[in-house]
Amino acid sequence: MTVETAAPETRPFEADVAKLLHLMVHSVYSDKDVFFRELISNAADACEKLRFEALSDASLMPGEAPFRIDVTLDPEAKQLTIEDNGIGMSEADLSEALGTIARSGTKAFMERVAGSKEAEGSHFIGQFGVGFYSAFMVADEVEVVTRRAGSDQAWRWRSDGLGTYTIQPVDVAEAPARGTRVTLHLKDDAATYADAYTAESTIKSQSGHVPVPIWLKEKPD
Ligand code: ADP
Ligand code: MG
Repeated sequence: MTVETAAPETRPFEADVAKLLHLMVHSVYSDKDVFFRELISNAADACEKLRFEALSDASLMPGEAPFRIDVTLDPEAKQLTIEDNGIGMSEADLSEALGTIARSGTKAFMERVAGSKEAEGSHFIGQFGVGFYSAFMVADEVEVVTRRAGSDQAWRWRSDGLGTYTIQPVDVAEAPARGTRVTLHLKDDAATYADAYTAESTIKSQSGHVPVPIWLKEKPD
């Protein structure tokens, strides 16, 4: 499919997502480290979903491609990427998963955050099914490039978390062979997450029991 020329389409976040993002970024909720746990747990969930779907459709996982999560740091560019070779997302998955809040968790989350005077435990955000959005606590731009297992089309989702996001088809050469790559353009006050020491110790403390191996390296080569 030739799709390179398609312009990005801008869409608004569902009103609740916009509110949630504002709250997450500006509230007393301050344990920023949890974004690592949330993004890594999404990556591991995506691997588990593919493992499950492949039980009834082996063609989704051709050849040997053991599940893995790659975290790549680029301290100079203040960038961090988390890539998995799990199920990936179609366009519909993308706008549904990263533009709306499917679960009723939002309201409960917002009530809890509004009423709380200090940081909650580190599982707090994940409980409400809104973990992905925690990326905006540390990033002023988040880009997701994804290709669903078995699909010949890849997609780019991008947002500054301020009310809208864009979705655009991308050439498969720019995407993982299957799965999802999340790139965080870190805020100045969160740039240390791209340093090897901080990244490694945060991942160790936040994601000690993830069933998929995590590979940490500096800069794409
Ligand atoms: P939850 O994980 O509790 O569903 P999140 O806010 O963390 O809530 O993620 C929302 C949704 O976005 C997930 O349910 C999933 O459909 C999709 N998603 C997020 N990250 C990934 C990923 N790495 N691979 C595939 N789908 C993902
Ligand atoms: Mg999650």
